[in-house]
Amino acid sequence: MINKEVKTVFIDLHTHTTASDGVLSPTELLDLARANGTKMLAITDHDTVAGYLSVKSCCSDIRLISGVEISTTWEGTGIHMVGLNFDPEKTAIKQLLSAQATARRQRAEIILQKLQKVGFSITIDELHEYAQTAHIGRPHIARLMVEKGYVNSIDKAFKKYLGTGKMGDVKSGWATLTEATQAIRQSDGIAVIAHPNHYKMTRTKLLKMLDDFIEAGGQGLEVISGKQHPDITTKFAHIANDKGLYASLGSDFHRHFPYAANVGLLPTLPDFVTPVWTTF
Ligand code: AMP
Ligand code: MN
Ligand code: MN
Ligand code: MN
Repeated sequence: MINKEVKTVFIDLHTHTTASDGVLSPTELLDLARANGTKMLAITDHDTVAGYLSVKSCCSDIRLISGVEISTTWEGTGIHMVGLNFDPEKTAIKQLLSAQATARRQRAEIILQKLQKVGFSITIDELHEYAQTAHIGRPHIARLMVEKGYVNSIDKAFKKYLGTGKMGDVKSGWATLTEATQAIRQSDGIAVIAHPNHYKMTRTKLLKMLDDFIEAGGQGLEVISGKQHPDITTKFAHIANDKGLYASLGSDFHRHFPYAANVGLLPTLPDFVTPVWTTF
């Protein structure tokens, strides 16, 4: 937990904006990052670099690193991968993100059809109008369900309809873990497994996933993701070291929330890991 005795690092390599499912625009996110004293920041929107590109040459006080969070699948499980410090103009990443955008659009339509069957009427046009981005995520659907009075909270929308194992949990269409890793590598970036503590996997399965990831060219593990218990940090720091992976860290900021991490205000990584920014 972040407390007074823990040193803050002022580096944040996992954040979201209105280009995907965050609620702050890229400019507003930068303002908050600056107010928090952030020195290095990656905007890692879901499957798009539009937010990053819109503020790319923004500032001299914050070092902005190119970033993206890619939804992938590995052996039937959804795994999120953060790509850092790549060249967004490379064909490999452009093609991957274009395919992901199509997959996202198609998935949104499938989710809406499923919700229609249980009596929730939302059209794709309505959803796009509401979300104000082409990169629709389940949080947009959840927020609109609340807005329309179908559920009384975002949490309820996920618990009953959109979360893991529920009708709106449609995984099809994403790149494989290997494809996403290779696209980031081919675009001169570093591929990082995001929030490893979120996956409901045994340790054995997680290590096997990391082996496949490394074989495909993966190089990093998010050792700190948001506010997490120090024991979790220690666990993933050791795994990163054992596997020869660089350690990354990020708030996964989407909006102000009492129990979520704020932008740039994360504890320092354990001193025995190699931070991913040493490669930038
Ligand atoms: P998607 O990109 O459509 O697969 O949606 C995944 C996103 O939904 C995550 O990045 C989170 O921002 C959000 N999310 C996942 N689970 C929950 C939850 N239980 N409550 C609120 N938001 C969630
Ligand atoms: Mn999200
Ligand atoms: Mn994620
Ligand atoms: Mn994220």
